[in-house]
Amino acid sequence: MLKLILCILLTLLPPSFAADSGEGNSAVIRIAIARNVPSFRINTSGKVYVLEVKTGQKYMLLERSAYEVKYISPSRLAVAGATLQSPVKLLAADGGDRVKLNNRFYKGDIYMKTTAAEKLEVIEHLPVEDYLCGVLPVEMSPDWPLEALKAQAVASRTYALKKANPKKDYDITDGVDTQVYNGASGMNSRIIEAVNSTRGEVLKYKGRLLTAFFHACCGGHTASASSAWGEEVLKPLYGVTDPFCSTSTHYKWDFYATTRDLLSFIQNNGSAAFRIKSVRVYKRDRSGRAVSLRFVTDRGSFTVKASALRKVFSTYDIKSTMITRIAPLNGGYEFTGRGWGHGVGMCQEGAKHMALAGRNYKKILRHYYPGAEIKDVN
Ligand SMILES: [Zn+2]
Repeated sequence: MLKLILCILLTLLPPSFAADSGEGNSAVIRIAIARNVPSFRINTSGKVYVLEVKTGQKYMLLERSAYEVKYISPSRLAVAGATLQSPVKLLAADGGDRVKLNNRFYKGDIYMKTTAAEKLEVIEHLPVEDYLCGVLPVEMSPDWPLEALKAQAVASRTYALKKANPKKDYDITDGVDTQVYNGASGMNSRIIEAVNSTRGEVLKYKGRLLTAFFHACCGGHTASASSAWGEEVLKPLYGVTDPFCSTSTHYKWDFYATTRDLLSFIQNNGSAAFRIKSVRVYKRDRSGRAVSLRFVTDRGSFTVKASALRKVFSTYDIKSTMITRIAPLNGGYEFTGRGWGHGVGMCQEGAKHMALAGRNYKKILRHYYPGAEIKDVN
């Protein structure tokens, strides 16, 4: 049954469509919430309109209904079987959640468009302060101390605004490659307080937004952005000692790798070896992280980047490059290390323990981003 009512609505959009400008920060962020998909299903909760952006024609979708959206051609997509010109925008007639996609609710304006790769992408436009309320519950935890949540709000706001790129269809993705966002779910009053009480506050260095990286646990010393990714070394991302995360769950890890897996790893990285005689950390950076590993093999020594190991073995197994020990065990090797994640910027476990020890969010941010200033975004 065609659920799209093909009547053109001549009424103007109600005022509730305007993004909440609030005070201090009215920036809107564009989040890619689905990419490179041939089709997907959306569920409407309230009354939702579909607007063809180029023609201005509006159609109405029924409340609480499911619709399939499909790629048709470079300039067309289908919503509930009706072919429309790409892009289309979903607009809610009333407030609250608008649509559900992949079991997540979204409150912002949703754009659906075809791509050059003959697929669809879905982009949500949302005031950045509302976006942060969806980031914090997944990037930290609603149960963590308020001052740690506030520090995360400032770091995540800064990171997101730094990503703004008008030349692209969207500013930021919703996955671990940037920062995780699952729509308008998981927030509670503490998350909202953490976001509202730091509204518009960002980290700046020499007048410019800082790329405010953060990670789960540093293992005792945060990493330099230059060492991790060859980024320009800015003082706030140079790396600091961290005495605060040592009691956290992720402070220590170990992983057993079989000789067979390690051999396959070095062979895939260009080694002609058939047998591994020993493995050790060859070079470390200032923070103590392994930069390279050296394998002694039947075909001589072979050096490989430590970061390559995390790409091949899971980042849940080799949790960081702060590898403290590699020891032969049962015909394979046991890797022992500290921390979880890339280690650059704020250590979230450390932030939690600083907050538990009574430090406020500004002290936390100044510790992990030394030299950066906490400023209003405008
Ligand atoms: Zn730490």
